Amino acid sequence: MKIVRYRDFLGAPHHACLHPAGRLERLEGDLFGDLVPTGETADAARILAPLEPRAILCVGLNYRRHAAETGAAIPEHPVLFMKAPGALQHPESPIQLPTTLASHQVDYEGELAVVIGRTCRNVPRSRALEVVLGYTCANDVSARDWQKQPHLGGGQWCRGKSFDTFAPLGPALVSAAAIADPQGLRLRTRLNGQTVQEASTADMIFSVAELIEFLSASTTLPAGTVILTGTPSGVGMAADPPRWLRPGDVVEVEIEGIGVLRNPVVEEAPLVIDGISSGR
Ligand code: MG
Repeated sequence: MKIVRYRDFLGAPHHACLHPAGRLERLEGDLFGDLVPTGETADAARILAPLEPRAILCVGLNYRRHAAETGAAIPEHPVLFMKAPGALQHPESPIQLPTTLASHQVDYEGELAVVIGRTCRNVPRSRALEVVLGYTCANDVSARDWQKQPHLGGGQWCRGKSFDTFAPLGPALVSAAAIADPQGLRLRTRLNGQTVQEASTADMIFSVAELIEFLSASTTLPAGTVILTGTPSGVGMAADPPRWLRPGDVVEVEIEGIGVLRNPVVEEAPLVIDGISSGR
């Protein structure tokens, strides 16, 4: 089943089932329990990210060619970092280029996102897919200057990965039952319609099951945790010359069987109070 979250015309959030012909049927219940079809067509004013993540765990350097293009060695263990859940952005909503704490090197990273559905710890890889609620598309937007330059980011990645809107997620959450093998999916990222990343999840260094085994080891993963599984080669940082995101760009992350996560790129508004931004 493909599940989307949406806001109705009164502003209330709901879940819906996306049927193959494009119809949205409202669901009742809990994303982590039972979602029951109502037969009603959803009155969706806006599609939201499929969930508000409890945590966003990210894995760096999980595709061999991406490790090569960044000059990094193949890691012995998955490289874990985190994005602030507040960086979440919805499908079709803009990625904002930071201007107040300015970045001049904002980059895209198309990724397969795994949503944990059952709170778990010490899950062996042989049982790891049992705790997966579903899969969706993610863009691990990254300010490379704040990520890579020690005098800016202090030698760790949190600052450069956690600006507002740097975690677009969606559009649909595809139930684990509908994806027989998460290592057999085509992933493509397009920048203004041009394909810039193209890979199979078969090229991951650590599989989804191995990542869950590692991330849950001695560490509880609460239901609602989102795991970003790493990006393949083709990031803007590795282009010659580097290609950083600019206002007016459109980034699309497409994963076979899941859908297309599309976000335009704008400059950050200079002042926001109570959710209302003042323009330039
Ligand atoms: Mg990434």
